[in-house]
Amino acid sequence: MQTQPSLYDLSFEQLQARIAAWAQPTFRARQIWEWLYVHLADSYDRMTNLPKPLRDRLAAEFALGRLTPQIDRLSSDGWTRKILFALPDNAYIETVLMEYDTRNTVCASTQAGCAMGCTFCATGQSGFQRNLSAGEIIEQVLFFERALRKSEGEKERRRDGETVGKPVDQLTDPRSTDHRITNVVLMGMGEPFANYNALLDALHRFSDPVGYNFGARRITISTVGLVPMIERFAQEKSQVNLAVSLHAATDDLRESMLPINKRYPLGVLIPACRTYTETTHRRISFEWALIEDVNDTPEQARLLAHLIKGMVCHVNLIPLNPTRDFSGRASTRERIVAFRAVLDNSHIPNTLRIRRGIDINAGCGQLRQSVISNL
Ligand code: SAH
Ligand code: SF4
Repeated sequence: MQTQPSLYDLSFEQLQARIAAWAQPTFRARQIWEWLYVHLADSYDRMTNLPKPLRDRLAAEFALGRLTPQIDRLSSDGWTRKILFALPDNAYIETVLMEYDTRNTVCASTQAGCAMGCTFCATGQSGFQRNLSAGEIIEQVLFFERALRKSEGEKERRRDGETVGKPVDQLTDPRSTDHRITNVVLMGMGEPFANYNALLDALHRFSDPVGYNFGARRITISTVGLVPMIERFAQEKSQVNLAVSLHAATDDLRESMLPINKRYPLGVLIPACRTYTETTHRRISFEWALIEDVNDTPEQARLLAHLIKGMVCHVNLIPLNPTRDFSGRASTRERIVAFRAVLDNSHIPNTLRIRRGIDINAGCGQLRQSVISNL
């Protein structure tokens, strides 16, 4: 088991300080940074422009990342891949890659487990282990970025080998249009705003122009509704998208599903969301897991429309992913159509999100739950 600190846990300034302490020229820090975040090196041996003694010293003192894949599952349609990673201290996190349409989206975790205890959520049912570091958040995305880039090489080779005599359209792999991660959603395990400092560090590092250089507008954070952090995030002047898990339009119902609603009820949450959109001039998204006979009634839809009327927002409707300790069921098609009709009539923009990777427990925290409970 790896016990060294990870190189991904250093900021650029910390790396520079380490390089200076080792009496190495300053430019070495930039070179290492590029190996980590531009070339996504998976071994020190690949860092060929570094002198061997420096590579050896790095290898002796720092692990090149901390994530060890434990379980790697591909959905039956082949477009969703979910990995359960073990961390050196036996914490577990889940990360999912969804390759759909023209997008390659990574759903990453920000904590191992979660302390918020939402009743319908597998992560909430399993409890909290610990916060992730900024490096551990970023590494999940880089893992899949690396995998996509490698698969590009494989496809190119395969295609070259098959070129003779084949019509061009048969050589075109639908996935080959983009071998890059196009979107990152921090909607895996954990509550991002309960790990605020590491989250912000990770966001800055994602968009570092001399590093990974990933556009902030292609990143989305989802929060259960920690009001002080929504207020704080509004002040960050970030281009990152914000989604709020609403799921119910009355305090009684929301409280029964999301215990955090006792601390931050709708009367403070919704005004904080309004202020966020006014301060940032950015649209906010609301997440709504549709649960049959619970929050999918026309009455809840009407109350929701009333609650968020006039806000620059969008509602994402997701049929519930069934979980071990929650008896609720996903809404039927008819009920979803009726719910959406109410929102449409009130001119509330909304999208029905298709559930992905059900067969591989791709929902938040489900793989960890299924594995841990089988140990
Ligand atoms: N903690 C953050 C982000 C992680 S959860 C949050 O709660 O927003 C990501 C999203 O998945 C949230 O909107 C959450 O409510 C939703 N979710 C959790 N369990 C689910 C389930 N079983 N079915 C559908 N959505 C679920
Ligand atoms: Fe935590 Fe989000 Fe799951 Fe709630 S839904 S328990 S906040 S991960």
